[in-house]
This record gives sequence, C-alpha cells and structure tokens, in this order.
Amino acid sequence: MLLFSALAALCLLPLLVLAAEDYYKLLGLDRDADERQIKKAYRTLSKKFHPDKNPNDDTSQQKFVDIAEAYDVLIDAEMRKVYNQYGHEGVKQKQGGGGQGGGHNPFDLFNSFFGGGGRFQQGQRKGPNMEVRISVPLRDFYTGKDHEFKVEKQAICEKCEGSGSEDGQRDTCHKCNGQGMVIQKQMLAPGIFQQMQMQCDVCGGKGSTVKHKCKTCGGARVVRAEEQYELAVEKGMPNGVRVTYENEADESPDYVAGDLVVHLLQEEPKLAKGEKDRTDGTFFRRKDQHLFWREVLSLREAWMGDWTRNLTHLDGHVVQLARKRGQVVQPGSVEVVEGEGMPTWRQEDGPEFGNLHVEYTVVLPDQMDGGLEKEFWGVWEKWRKKKGVDLQKDSGRPEPKHDELVVDVLYQLLI
Ligand SMILES: [Zn+2]
Ligand SMILES: [Zn+2]
Repeated sequence: MLLFSALAALCLLPLLVLAAEDYYKLLGLDRDADERQIKKAYRTLSKKFHPDKNPNDDTSQQKFVDIAEAYDVLIDAEMRKVYNQYGHEGVKQKQGGGGQGGGHNPFDLFNSFFGGGGRFQQGQRKGPNMEVRISVPLRDFYTGKDHEFKVEKQAICEKCEGSGSEDGQRDTCHKCNGQGMVIQKQMLAPGIFQQMQMQCDVCGGKGSTVKHKCKTCGGARVVRAEEQYELAVEKGMPNGVRVTYENEADESPDYVAGDLVVHLLQEEPKLAKGEKDRTDGTFFRRKDQHLFWREVLSLREAWMGDWTRNLTHLDGHVVQLARKRGQVVQPGSVEVVEGEGMPTWRQEDGPEFGNLHVEYTVVLPDQMDGGLEKEFWGVWEKWRKKKGVDLQKDSGRPEPKHDELVVDVLYQLLI
C-alpha cells in the first residue's frame, strides 16, 4: 500500500509541475520584487488577459485566473514566505489543503483593483508610448556599462490604489447607474425630440463616484512620480538603438501602460576631469563597427621614419603605431589596424572586433631653424650639382601620367 502511494505520488509529480507555473515568472517578476512591483504587474497583466478582452481564447482566460492566484499569494507576506520555501504544494496546504484555494475569485480581485462596478471598461487599450533620449560616451559602447536613469511620469496613486477614494469605496453613479453614459432628450421643435447618448457628467464616464476623495491624488487616481530604471549598455550596441521597457510609460487605471522607449545615443566627446579617463579613444570617431583616428606626424617622422606612438584605446589598453628608420608615411595615407575597432554587438562566441583606421596627417614646419635650413640646403645643392636630382627616385614621387608631363618638366626646372 505504501509502495503504491509512493508510486502514485511519483506519477503525479510531473503533472503538478506542468499545471503550476512559477508565480514570479507568471507575473514577470524577480524574486525580490516589492509590493509596488507586484501590484503593478498584476494591474498590467490582468487587463491584458481579461476574458472580456479576449473572448473565445481559453489560454488567456486561464492566464487571467493564474495571474490572480499568483498575485494573491505573493502580495501576502506570509504566503509568499511559504511559497518561496515550499512552492505551490506548501501554499495549497496552508490554504487548507484539498486544492480549494483560499484566494479571491479572480473577478472580485479585478474589481477591487479597477472599481467602476468591476466591468472591463469599453475602449480600454494600451496607452501611448513614451520616448526618452539618453546619451553615453563612446567608451560605454565599447566596454559595456550599466547605467541608471530616472523618468518622471504619471503613476497610479499608491495611497488609493488608483481608486481615487480615501476609504477605497466607490459608489455606483446614481445618474447613469454605472453605465458611464446617459441618454439625453432634446426638444428640437414642439413634439419633436432628439435622443443623444452622452458621457455622464457626474462620474465623467467612469460609472462610479467617490464620496471621500483620496487626499494624495485629490481623486485624480494618478500622481506625477519619478521612477528609476536600469539601462545596460551592451558592448558594441549601435548608436541610436532603441531599448523598450514594456508597459513602463504613463500609468492609468483606465488603460494598460504603453512602452517606455529609450533612444540610446553617443555623447559628443569631451575631456573628462579625471586623468585616468583621458584616453585618445575618447576622440575616436565611430562608423558602425569601425573606429577612425587621425594621427599627426612631423615632416621628419613621415619622411625618415623611426618613431612610435602609443594610442590609449577606449578601455585603456595601448595600441602602438610605429615605423622603423627609412619607412616613409605618405600624408593622407590610411593604416588599418585589424581588430582594434568596435566589438560586434551580441556576438555569441566571444566578441569580434571591427578595425581601427588611422589616417596620417603630416605637418611641415612653418619656418626652419637657420642652421638646419643651411645644412639641408647644402645637402640638396650637393646632390643637385653632383648627381642631378631624379624626382622619381629620390623623393618617392609616383610615376607621372601622360598629362602631367609638362607640369613635371616645369617642376624640374624650378628645382
Ligand atoms: Zn455616471
Ligand atoms: Zn489617490
């Protein structure tokens, strides 16, 4: 007999697991969610899955019931503790066993939240989206960084739970009987009446009125509030990317909140105060996956070689640029340093990087030191007189094309 029960329990187990989804997951919450977050999740989801809004959709209707069940447990501190420790089974036992839930009827719960006679009001839909712009330095797009930001928005009054009533009491409107609409008769001419359906002016179309207005929101049911969010800037995220926070726009008891959309932009480069933040990379320009940098060389460096530059990249690592003696760099030439560009966004197997394009600019001295000029002149004179100057050979000038010939001859005459 004992063995039989154990077997039965084993067989039941997978069914139970299938039937009951995790309450936190169901409400889209973290395990450390606070009361406000739980209420908010319920408010949003119960509207979304309300049977009135999803006729003939069994999945939605079941979800509506499950959401209410999850809310009932998580909002009760004691039940939540039991659930955290023992799961669904523990909750059932605590509620009196036998699966007869101790929670609310899901419709009663919905009514207690939204008042107005408890009906799902017609025309209820998603509210408008909200967009905010956030600028972060290029460095954060390179290394990835978590940011926090605050948004001031319309929030459901916490004091009255969006009922607008001090005592939580909403009375069915005496004028419209909870319909929100009234029929008005207007006499157009003697004996001729026109009937018009109009929004009830007593309750403003809500179908219910409040005797004692909530002191916090003055009966408006909503307040202005600042809410803080976290924004994870991921490695290699494109400039201008939009990050959506579902149902985080202005809240209202009358609609499901729209989405909060963060438009993430790259900040104009500026010199940071701290010495450690002073990286050359701050002034890199980005185009998609590639970075661009302009490096300035002196005439001597460009022509004679034998120089090094240590570029400090966005995360502080150093990219060395260098030429040996005798290696010439042409002005305006571009060196491509592979793998030193931006990381690829959401690369599965480790980050992949674009390239860094270094463009060389050569600066000639405005005026040469007298002694230096004399020596240079001497060297050139010597070469000119003894060997003649072959521009092709000695200065690295490219082969002239046919139409450049005349210019070239003139140029040679000038030297
Ligand atoms: Zn009314
Ligand atoms: Zn209030």
